[in-house]
Amino acid sequence: MPVLSIVVPCYNEEEVLPETTKRLIDVLEELIADELIHESSVILYVDDGSRDRTWELIEQFNRESRFITGLKLARNAGHQNALLSGLMKAKRNADIAVSIDADLQDDLAAIRAMVEKFHEGYEVVYGVRESRTTDTFFKRFTAEGFYKLMRGLGANIVFNHADFRLMSKRALQNLGRFEESNLFLRGIVPMIGFRSTNVYYARAERFAGESKYPLKKMLAFAFDGITSLSVTPIRFVTMLGFIMFVLSILAGIWALIAKIAGSTVTGWSSLMVSLWLIGGVQIMCLGLIGEYVGKIYKETKRRPKYILDIDLDPLGDAKYVGG
Ligand code: UDP
Ligand code: MG
Repeated sequence: MPVLSIVVPCYNEEEVLPETTKRLIDVLEELIADELIHESSVILYVDDGSRDRTWELIEQFNRESRFITGLKLARNAGHQNALLSGLMKAKRNADIAVSIDADLQDDLAAIRAMVEKFHEGYEVVYGVRESRTTDTFFKRFTAEGFYKLMRGLGANIVFNHADFRLMSKRALQNLGRFEESNLFLRGIVPMIGFRSTNVYYARAERFAGESKYPLKKMLAFAFDGITSLSVTPIRFVTMLGFIMFVLSILAGIWALIAKIAGSTVTGWSSLMVSLWLIGGVQIMCLGLIGEYVGKIYKETKRRPKYILDIDLDPLGDAKYVGG
């Protein structure tokens, strides 16, 4: 029977953790009773540099229950990196990992469905939201636009799937081979391959507390996702530049002919308009190129994606630093 590790990144989640813990333990106990997973399966909390009592709670649950273990990151590394740190731990001491948010927005019943799919031979199982009725209109609208855009740009991401998924040990080991420092898991996981399938569920409202993804972070996340998976935007810029170059040559020829024919230039306003237009497009293009250059700069530094502070269940391995 496979050892399951449920990886839960937590950032200031003291309000939801007690309830999450209770419900996740129920899930584990039922799965163990039905002989779907091994009894040494765990819930692995990753404290992503929380400033509230999140870590104290994790330590307390760890003392109270053999199902609870935890990693404490030295500082806030962001949702994706926190999740990755947990997955990289699970890669070493579990056979399957299910990643889920701490806020109980994802249906815990889907975990069983995912494990069943694993037993049927699937190595990656995506949790897919059936409906987004609990999200605001704005979030629904922007999320849909985002998925469509990603698809259009050729990134193979699963529609309406966040980071609620099951991965086999093999898939995790291969995930560990993607060394880019800007990791967008939703885009990377489908690239791994292996047999995969979807499990559908209804997404609930956050159980308590506030979203840790305010608009600014959400936009940054979306933009990061696009630029880390696709070079189409930069190609689009090159094409735009080329088209404008051709147009300006035609305009130049026209201006020359007009001059020879004796008709004088009168349009000051049209001159100004095109000047601003070209200036604007140029700045935008430079910014876009800069975005990719910045990405390259970040990647070349090869900085660690997260720093591990405490591991409640360290693997007796001197080299182990969490990676
Ligand atoms: N999270 C994290 N580090 C961060 C921000 C968020 O580990 O810097 C965790 C958070 O605790 C939660 C999950 O990532 O378990 C998703 O965050 P949230 O529910 O706030 O995002 P939303 O569902 O609103 O997109
Ligand atoms: Mg949430």
